[in-house]
Amino acid sequence: MTEHKSTNITWHEGIDRAERYQSLHATGATIWFTGLSGSGKSTIASALESELVRGGVFAYRLDGDNIRYGLSKNLGFSKEDRTENIRRIGEVCRLFSDAGVIAVASFISPYKEDRDAVRALHKELGLQFFEVFVDTPVEECEKRDPKGLYAKARAGEIQGFTGINAPYEAPENAEMVIDTTKVSVQEAVTRCRAMLESSGSGRPRWGRRGYD
Ligand code: ADP
Repeated sequence: MTEHKSTNITWHEGIDRAERYQSLHATGATIWFTGLSGSGKSTIASALESELVRGGVFAYRLDGDNIRYGLSKNLGFSKEDRTENIRRIGEVCRLFSDAGVIAVASFISPYKEDRDAVRALHKELGLQFFEVFVDTPVEECEKRDPKGLYAKARAGEIQGFTGINAPYEAPENAEMVIDTTKVSVQEAVTRCRAMLESSGSGRPRWGRRGYD
C-alpha cells in the first residue's frame, strides 16, 4: 500500500457520474491488456483504440513505453518501480473511465497483486474494469521479438526481463484470454468490442457514427 503523505486534504464532490455519462453520451471503462513483451498487447490495443475512436467512441490508449516518456519517466524496472508505475497508470485509467472515456491500457504488468490493486481501484468506485490476458507462449513472443529485447536479454544486456529472468504471474480470473497464435488481431478487437458493448460501454456517443 502506497504511503499517504498529504495531510489536511478534503475530497471535493463534483457532477454526478451518471449525469456526466448521460450528458456526454459516453460510458467509461478500463480495458487492461496484460501479457509478455511481444505477446501482441499494443498491436491489439492500438487497433481497438482506432476502431472505437473511428466509430465515435471516446477511447484513449495508455501504453507501456509511452508512459515511461512522461508520467513514469523517473521509474525503472525494479519490482518497486514496476508496482509504482502500474499504480500511477491505474489511477489515470480510473480518472479516464470516471470521465466517460474507454481507457485502453497495454502493460506487461507482471505482478498479480499490482493488477488486482488497479481492479480494486475501479471497483471501489463502481467503475468497469476488464482484464484481458494476451496469453501468447513465450517461445512465440521470443520468435517475434518485435523490439529485439529477447535477444538483448539472452545476451545478458537486459536484467530483469519478464519471461526470461523476471517473473510473469498469469491472471487466473481475467475477463478474456487471447492466444494470438490462434486469434487474429481483428478477431481479438471484435471480441473486445463485444465485451465492452455487452456491458454498456464502447458504444458510439450519438447512437451511430458521426453527429446527429
Ligand atoms: P506487446 O505490446 O505485447 O509487447 P506488440 O504488439 O508490440 O507486443 O508486438 C506483437 C507482435 O506480434 C507484432 O509484431 C504483431 O504484428 C505480431 N502479431 C502476430 N500475430 C498477432 C496477433 N494475432 N495479435 C497481435 N499481434 C500479433
